[in-house]
Amino acid sequence: MSVERVYNFSAGPAVLPVAVLEEARDNLLSLGESGVGICEISHRSKEFTAIIEQTEADIRELYGIPKEYRVMFLQGGASMQFSMVPMNLLGAGQTADYIHTGVWSKKAIAEAKKVGEVHVAATSEEGNFCRVPRGEEVRLSGSAAYVHFTSNNTIFGTQWHAEPPCGGAPLVCDMSSDILSRSLDISKYGLIYAGAQKNLGPSGVTLVIIREDLLERSSDSLPTMLNYRKMVEGKSLYNTPPTFGIYLLGLVTKWMKKNGGLAEMSKRNEEKARILYDALDANAACTPHADKDSRSLMNVTWRMSSEEMEKRFVEEATARRMTNLKGHRSVGGLRASIYNAFPKAGVEALVSFLEEFTARTQS
Ligand code: PMP
Repeated sequence: MSVERVYNFSAGPAVLPVAVLEEARDNLLSLGESGVGICEISHRSKEFTAIIEQTEADIRELYGIPKEYRVMFLQGGASMQFSMVPMNLLGAGQTADYIHTGVWSKKAIAEAKKVGEVHVAATSEEGNFCRVPRGEEVRLSGSAAYVHFTSNNTIFGTQWHAEPPCGGAPLVCDMSSDILSRSLDISKYGLIYAGAQKNLGPSGVTLVIIREDLLERSSDSLPTMLNYRKMVEGKSLYNTPPTFGIYLLGLVTKWMKKNGGLAEMSKRNEEKARILYDALDANAACTPHADKDSRSLMNVTWRMSSEEMEKRFVEEATARRMTNLKGHRSVGGLRASIYNAFPKAGVEALVSFLEEFTARTQS
C-alpha cells in the first residue's frame, strides 16, 4: 500500500490491526482458494458456519467463558441492547437498578424507563462524571431484576477497575469500549454486551454474552428479532447476520490469541495508558478529566490551558498525522482513544508532540 497510515485516535469505529485488514483485503476477493469473496458467501454455507463457530470458540477461550453462558452476534449496536436488556430481563412489576456514569448510561436508563421501573442506584453526575462511584455509594433497590453498569465511559474517560456491588442480582454490563481489553471473571456477570467497533472489529455487529438461565425470562410475545432466547436458539442465524462483521471479529480474536491473549492485551493497554497519563500529570498545561482511581485505559481525556490552545493542538497534531484527538463536546478538550490495536509507538509520538507543543506555546 502506498499511503502511510495515520495514528488514528478515534473513539470508534477505531483502528484495527494491520494484519487483520490485510487478511480481510485478500479474502474480499477470494476466501482462501475458493474464488468467492467473504461478502459473497451464504450465511448458511459451510465456510461461514466454520467462521462463526471458530469466532465464538476464540471468544470463549480468550475470556474463559463458562459453559453455562451463550454467545450471540446481533445487530443494532449497543444502543439496541439498551432496549433489548429491559425488554427481555425486566418483568412486569419489577425494578432494574442502573448506575449512571455518563452519556451512554443515560441513554440506557432512558430506554429501560420505557419498559419498566428504573432505580438509579448511584451516579457520578456531580463533577461532570470525572469518576465512577465507589462501591459504598451504590444504593441497590434490594430486589432488582438486574443491575446495569457501563464498564468504560468512552466519552468521559473513566473505567471501573472492579465490578460494582449487585447484591446477588444479575450484573448487566455495557462493555462496548473495553470488551476483551483485560481478563475478567465472566461468572460475575449475567449479561455483557458490546458494539464491536472499538476493540473487536467494524460497526454493525454487537457481541452479547448471556448466562443461560436468564433466557427463561424472554417472553414469547417479544418481537422475534428482539428476543434473546430466539437468537440463541437460532445460533445468531435466525436471519442473515452481519457476515462480514462477524468474519472480521473472528480475525481480530485470532490476532489477540496470536499476540498473547488477554494477559498481553492488558499489559500493553496498561503500559500505553501509563505513558500518556504520566506525561499529562507532568505537564502544567494539561489537566486530565478523570480522577486517578477511575482513569480509563482505553479513552484518555484531558483539558489544556485554554480552548484556543486545545484547538491549535488538534490542528497541529492532525498535520502530523495524529488524528481524531478532539474531545467529545460534553467534556471538551482532548481525547485519545488507545484500544487494543492502537500501537505504543503512536502514544509515544503523541507524548513527544505534546511536550514539544506545550514547551513552544507556553513560553
Ligand atoms: N455504549 C458505549 C459505552 C459506547 O461507547 C457506545 C458508542 N460509542 C455506545 C454504547 C453506543 O454504541 P452503538 O453506536 O453501537 O449503538
